[in-house]
Amino acid sequence: MSTWSSLADEALAGSVISRDAARAVLHAPADELLSLLDAAFRVRRHHWGRRVSLHVLENAKLGACPEDCGFCSQSSKHAAAGPTGEAGTGPARHASPSGEAPIKSADELVDAARRAFATRAKRYCMVTATRGPSQRDLDVICEAATRIKAEMDIELCASLGLLTEAKAQRLAASGVDRFNHNLETSERHYEKIVSTHSWRDRVETVRIAQRAGMDTCCGGIVGLGESEEDLLDLAYALRDLDVDSVPVNFLDARPGTPLEGYPLVEPGFALRSLCMFRLVHPRTDLRVAGGREITLRALQAFALYPANSIFTHGYLTTGGATAHADHQMIRDAGFELELASGEAVPADPEAMTKLASRQVPGRSPSLPIAH
Ligand code: SF4
Repeated sequence: MSTWSSLADEALAGSVISRDAARAVLHAPADELLSLLDAAFRVRRHHWGRRVSLHVLENAKLGACPEDCGFCSQSSKHAAAGPTGEAGTGPARHASPSGEAPIKSADELVDAARRAFATRAKRYCMVTATRGPSQRDLDVICEAATRIKAEMDIELCASLGLLTEAKAQRLAASGVDRFNHNLETSERHYEKIVSTHSWRDRVETVRIAQRAGMDTCCGGIVGLGESEEDLLDLAYALRDLDVDSVPVNFLDARPGTPLEGYPLVEPGFALRSLCMFRLVHPRTDLRVAGGREITLRALQAFALYPANSIFTHGYLTTGGATAHADHQMIRDAGFELELASGEAVPADPEAMTKLASRQVPGRSPSLPIAH
């Protein structure tokens, strides 16, 4: 029995694999990549079968964020990177009282949820580029949440920055099932990337969301110049936080940000990282998130062996695969889709092609990863 298979047995038995073992996963030789993926897949299959859930992000409020996260092109601190010039296009926007970028209307957010539902997404996530939601933002998000939950069977997520207890309770009462707030990296490395809030602030928001009764989605970004120890710290910190979902992003460095010019993560390391996260988080909804397409390229389907969910139809500040391409990949690799109802259905690329020809593109201009 291989070392990797023994680790899968440990994870399946409910033990936490050791930090030394997790580090060894990151160093697995190329000749052992398939046996490592097989071990991660045994754990994934036990908890998630061959089901893949599609998640769709919607930029509810684009750019002009007062925070200074070094990887993010939505920060107003990175003057050359901002996507804010695009926020004023399209239908009228509601200016927030803070004078930050305007938020989309509830009608637009509900329309975007309909499009996500039509692509057979399990989850739809409304995202704002802010330190935290203003009352106006919260009004719009909560109205949209209530209407979406009344109209369609889709899991609803929000990613709105830092929360207070009252704001979290309001979101939960409006039907938001899950709140996203990433730790991004280790506490040690975080202060080299962000100065306007702390890693501890982020941990506190995750705990506030949990206390309000929402599931939590909390992950990070590989490729921020972190060490392997930082990546391991992140994986175990997320386990200690007992989050329900872990999105693993790979940096696609944005022009004009302090991280401009940072190299893409090597695809073999990206897959080993996903296997490490799966073995440390056996039951978690593990998502291969932003940077999937550009980092993994021809190896994207291999990510489905450790991960059980993907974003489709692009990210917040970069484009991504179309729903057609993702349905095709899932079907070609012999996986199936999981809907919000819990039902498993075949992926259907042909239906996605027809859908794309009918839909008027309603997404924000493609501008990776916020919060
Ligand atoms: S990651 Fe979120 S909080 Fe940080 S600058 Fe971007 S939008 Fe603002």
